Amino acid sequence: MSVLERGWLSANNIVFAADSGDEPGAAVVDTGYQIHGEQTVTLIEAALAGQPLARILNTHLHSDHCGGNAALQTHWPQAQCLIPPGQAEAVHNWDPHALSYTPTGQDCPRFAIHGLLEPGAEVRLSGRDWQIHAAPGHDPHSIILFEPQSRTLVSADALWENGFGVVFPELEGESAFDEVAATLDVIEGLAPQTIVPGHGPVFYALEPALATARRRLEGFVQDPKRHALYAAKVLLKYKLLEWQRIRLDALRAWARQTPYFRLLHTRYFSLQTEQQWLQEIVDGLISSGAAQRQESAEQGSWLLNT
Ligand SMILES: [Zn+2]
Repeated sequence: MSVLERGWLSANNIVFAADSGDEPGAAVVDTGYQIHGEQTVTLIEAALAGQPLARILNTHLHSDHCGGNAALQTHWPQAQCLIPPGQAEAVHNWDPHALSYTPTGQDCPRFAIHGLLEPGAEVRLSGRDWQIHAAPGHDPHSIILFEPQSRTLVSADALWENGFGVVFPELEGESAFDEVAATLDVIEGLAPQTIVPGHGPVFYALEPALATARRRLEGFVQDPKRHALYAAKVLLKYKLLEWQRIRLDALRAWARQTPYFRLLHTRYFSLQTEQQWLQEIVDGLISSGAAQRQESAEQGSWLLNT
């Protein structure tokens, strides 16, 4: 197993080379964001050292986890794609709204799927059987993978070293903080020794990570507005990672046409105008050092990624 740790725009790629004569062949778990598609192909090709990629597995279908699927399928047309259950129809019909790409204002090229990763079942990777566990919360359909001999966990966005991903169902008014807590309990029960998160480096200390995640979750449960503001900042910073620099008026236009932004504003921050609220988020990113403002006499105000 090789972990290709990527920047935050692309989720980590976990590459499983095939054992000699091992069926059903080499695999990758999660494939990054679409603008890095070519880089993803190159990195995985190097990690496989000549073996063909036989399978693409996705822990969930956020654009930073399956955005490289299409590029990989073009490069390895025989590769079978396996996804968690619950969204197969949305992929077959390519429904970018149901798949979250329209609501988040992100992009993901269309890909084909060939099978499901059913919780309770196992999937063979590099000659070992990995358990598939449901991990709802961050995404209702997400799964995580666990290999009991080495006690290795592929935790996707359910647990990072310093928290977990935005709880997307909450943005739509569906309660999901309880699911986040239940998934953290599942992870605690598995007692992994090595944790390969969807973002950031591999880590080994489970207890402090769980404590951080539970503390964060408790803060969101106590004050859901805090989670809403965090979500808005994440969505904006994520887009800024893609743009690198954007004129403030273009950023406002993107926010106006991005459904989750409008939803967050209406649901939690309607005492401010949309413009005031967006300004507050931008100011927050600047003061935390996540972005920089640049004034240009001819071109107006820009926001820069840092
Ligand atoms: Zn995600």
